[in-house]
Formats: sequence, structure tokens, C-alpha cells
Amino acid sequence: MCGIFGVVNDKSGDAAKTVLLGLKRLEYRGYDSWGIAVQSKGNILIAKRAGKISEADDWKKLPKSSIGIGHTRWATTGAVTDINAHPHFSTDKSFALAQNGIVENYEDLKKSLSKKGYKFVTQTDTEVIVRLIEDELKKTAYLLSAVRNAFLQLEGRNTIIILAKHSGEIIAARNGSPLVIGTNPQTAEIFFSSDALSFAEMTKKLIVVDNGKIVRCSDNRVELFDIKTGSKENYKLEDIKIEKSKIDKEGYDYFMLKEIHEEPFAIRQLIKQNGLDYAKLASEIKKAKTVYAIGSGTAGVAAAQTAFYLREIAKINCISLVGADARDYYNLFSKGDLILAPSQSGETADVLEVLEYAKKKGVKIASFVNMPGSMMTRIADYKFMAQAGPEICVLSTKVFVSQIVWGYLVVKTTVGQVAEAKTNLKELAKKIESYLQSDSKQVKQLAKKLINSHDIFLMGKYQNYQIVREGMIKIIEDSYKHAQAIPAGDLKHYAITLIEEGIPVIVVMNNDKVKSDINNAINEVRARGAYVIGISPEAHENFSLHLKVPDCGETSAVMNIVPLQLLAYYLGTMLGHDVDKPRNIAKSVTVK
Ligand code: GLU
Repeated sequence: MCGIFGVVNDKSGDAAKTVLLGLKRLEYRGYDSWGIAVQSKGNILIAKRAGKISEADDWKKLPKSSIGIGHTRWATTGAVTDINAHPHFSTDKSFALAQNGIVENYEDLKKSLSKKGYKFVTQTDTEVIVRLIEDELKKTAYLLSAVRNAFLQLEGRNTIIILAKHSGEIIAARNGSPLVIGTNPQTAEIFFSSDALSFAEMTKKLIVVDNGKIVRCSDNRVELFDIKTGSKENYKLEDIKIEKSKIDKEGYDYFMLKEIHEEPFAIRQLIKQNGLDYAKLASEIKKAKTVYAIGSGTAGVAAAQTAFYLREIAKINCISLVGADARDYYNLFSKGDLILAPSQSGETADVLEVLEYAKKKGVKIASFVNMPGSMMTRIADYKFMAQAGPEICVLSTKVFVSQIVWGYLVVKTTVGQVAEAKTNLKELAKKIESYLQSDSKQVKQLAKKLINSHDIFLMGKYQNYQIVREGMIKIIEDSYKHAQAIPAGDLKHYAITLIEEGIPVIVVMNNDKVKSDINNAINEVRARGAYVIGISPEAHENFSLHLKVPDCGETSAVMNIVPLQLLAYYLGTMLGHDVDKPRNIAKSVTVK
């Protein structure tokens, strides 16, 4: 899930610095190593290291230059070491290469290249691509052809970027992992990146590079070719539309807290959206043979909540799947089906693979994405944008809220209740706003109480089951504690064995049709000594602690996630974790 960045014609004359700034904005994609390569006086120079780019200063020794590439790594193959950091030099230092992805056949390729006498100095799959290009360069004098021929031998989802010494050009090829190009006609600068946000402040024009395409760029010329045929193709310049593109903590200690506070804004953005687009999707839902909702991680939870709304409010069956496991349904996908796909980045490899397969089988796709210029938006038949503004924290908070609100709006449109939905959502945005201003202080107290708990259980049912699952994800991501979400009704079948004196159990409940079932579950854990924390509009005699939330009727589930997100935030910060960049995870999971 690395981030790739490049610049040609850098107007500041300090390409290393421009690349560094780009990489900092891409750091959510991986932060175990970084590297920058620039071309100066006919040579390529590289600075690279294991560690966070925010702590880097080695790049300062790189010479002034107008062209450079860089990489921020989330290791898939080979340990996190200086030598494994990208970019990687070719043996003669005539080019340097960085990769986002996994070369799935790298062991076979490495064996055959080793037999030919090539030496490997790193443990990465990336170096195999470098040696393959060197091998191809023995057959052709053109770097572009050599890169094309090498790239065609790679299996897996990969994007590469190459800085060439003699020609002073950048070549980038895409098959799976993201690649976008920004062009600034005023300054003639050209940017390569894994996302459009990283260069949105420098240019408002974007080229989304499709899979199977290779781009060559020198001076102010961008050329696009098909990788298989080598033929030159036209490309489309699009406008970058980014809401509140300022990437700044605006006084908050962490982006996570700032983004939780932006949840009312994210909801209001959706209320404003064009109802016609929703109506078109609603009519597709009504006529679809089977509706699926698919996502990964937090977006997978949002997909499941959308499926819940569809079954409960519209009485339409919807199967929710996690991206990585949707393969089980491949035999069932057929023309007339519809997939609802929420995703923060629109580049999640697990989900993209499913969508690409489903599309070939004639399945229609509706995407809901926050990041502009993504592949998911590109391949979707119904394209929705969250317009929630950049979400910089690796953990998704406001975009999760946006995703489930989108699901709710789509479903309410399906049953002809748009006006009611909008009224409910306006109310909801207000209630979240006032909750964040006052009542949330109680959550901080709770975090202090739970700081030494090793295990935290969460229980919910019906509209709140996915909410406790998302709460579990947030707590795990931020605090590195063991958290477990249990369907309240299933408690007695297994998890009850784990309930003992003092163990924290968070229960999320509303005054809805499952209230008495939840009551039973609360009584059962309380009888075994659990410390029961109730997130609910109403008190309960068996709550050890009551976190009061406003009743938001049909949209209560959206309200209920807020205290859980805050709890995760306070636990993480009190434990001294960098909650914006938790260990081992990256935001946009573009590898499988
Ligand atoms: N496979 C490469 C490495 O481990 C790139 C990883 C990625 O894109 O996440 O260095």
C-alpha cells in the first residue's frame, strides 16, 4: 500500500523537497520507510531510509533538481530496512524504480534471472522488476519498450514509477495499484502520484491512468501508451474537485479528532447532493435480481449497515460481503445483479478485484468514494462522491459516517421517503454537533477507567450490531487492545464463558424492537460481574455506567458510533499512540 510521487519540471528547482511534501501527504498509505531519487547533471542520486518520512532529513543532502520520484513504503516483501526502501537503482545506476503492489510471481522470476547471472541485493519483489528491465534492455535500446516488456511479465496488482538518467524522464505503468497525473498548464509542472489529494494544492487538472497503460513524461509532454500493444493513446484531462482541501489539523491534536468533529459537515454534504442520482440508483435497486453490498475493513461494516437498512426499511434482500471473501459468490454473480461499493479511497485492491470480475459478468456497480480520481469511480455505473473533505487519519471516522448515511439516503429514496430522510439527517447532524461539544467529556472519563483493561467486549443487535463491530475495529486500531463485538443474542452460545468480575462490556441499545433481547443480554453479563457501559438514550438499572446519547430515531445507529470513535481516540492518545498512524496499518489497502 505504498505511496508513489513524482515531479517533472519542478518550478522551485528543488524536486527533492517537492517530492518530500507529496510523500508526506501520502504517508497514510505506508510509513515504514521512505525514499527519494532526483536527477541532476546526468546522474541519479537517492536518499532512502527505514522510518517515518515526517522524521526524515537525509533528503536535504540531495542536489537541486527539477525532476524526481519518491516512495513511502508499507512492506509486503522483505523486512523494513534501509536497503529494502524504494527507489531501487539499476545495476549501472541508469534508472531508479519504485513500486506499489506485490509481484505475485517474483520467486519464479527471481530464480530465472539468477540463473542468467543477475545479482540481488535486497529482499524485495521490487528488485525483480529492476533486473527484468535490465534484462529487457539487452534486447532493445528503448527504455519505454523494456519497461513495457518487463511489466507484462509481472503477475499481481502493480504500479511502478521510474526515473531515467540520460533522458531525464519519468515512466510510470499501472495495473491495479493507483496512479494519477496532475498537470499545471501555467507552470508546466507535471506530478505523478497515488492519489490526487497529494498534488491538489499545486494543480487542479488530473489524468486518471487506467489499468494496462504506461505513461512517459519529459519536459512538459505527457504521452500515454497501451502496455500490450505499445500504441499511443489520447488521455482525458479532468478537474480535481476536492472539498476543504486544506490539509491542516486546525488546532486539534490529531486529524482523527478533527475528522470526528467534521461528521456533521459530512452528513450535510450528502443532504445537498443531487436527488436525481439517488433516484436512478433506487430504481436500479428495485429492479436488480440480487443486491450485494461489498467493502473491506470499516467500509465493509458500512456495506453491512447499508444492507441492514435495505432489508429493514425497503424490505429488499441485500447480501453484504467483505471484499477479500466475495470470491465465494463469483459463481452466483450474473447480469441483472447490482453491487453497492462504499470505499474511502476507491482503490481497495480486495474490492476492486471483485468489481472488475463482476463487471465482466454484467453486474452493475454503484460506488461511493471520498477520494477523487479513483478506479472504483471510474468503473462504476452509478458514481457517488462523499465530498467529505480529505480524511487524513489512517482510521476512517467521518467517511464511515458518510458511508452509512449514504446507504440510508439511498434506501430511503428507494421507498420514496427522501424528504423524511433529509429532515432526519438534518436533526442528526445537529445532535452529533451538540454531543461533540458537551456530552463527549464523559467518554474521556471512561477511557481513563479502561486504560488498563486487556479485553473490551461490545454487544449490539439489529440497527446497532454493525455499530459495535465498527467500535471494535476502532478500539483495536487505536489502543491495540483486544476488543470483541458480540451479537447480543449470541452471547449465551459461547462468549459468556469469558465474562467475569469487572470485565468491561459496552452495550449499544435504543428503544427499538430488540430492546427486550438486549435487556436479557445485559442482565446475563451483569449477573456474572461485568462492568456494563451502556451507550443509549435511556438509563438501565444494570448499567454500571451510562453514556447518554440523544435518540435519533431511524438514524440512531449513526449517532451511536460517535462515542465509540471518541473512546478509541482517547484510549489511543492516553496510551501514547500516534492515533493518526497506528502501527502496521495503512489507509488505502491497494495490495491483496
Ligand atoms: N512489494 C513492495 C515492497 O514490499 C511494495 C509494497 C506495497 O506497495 O505495499 O517493498
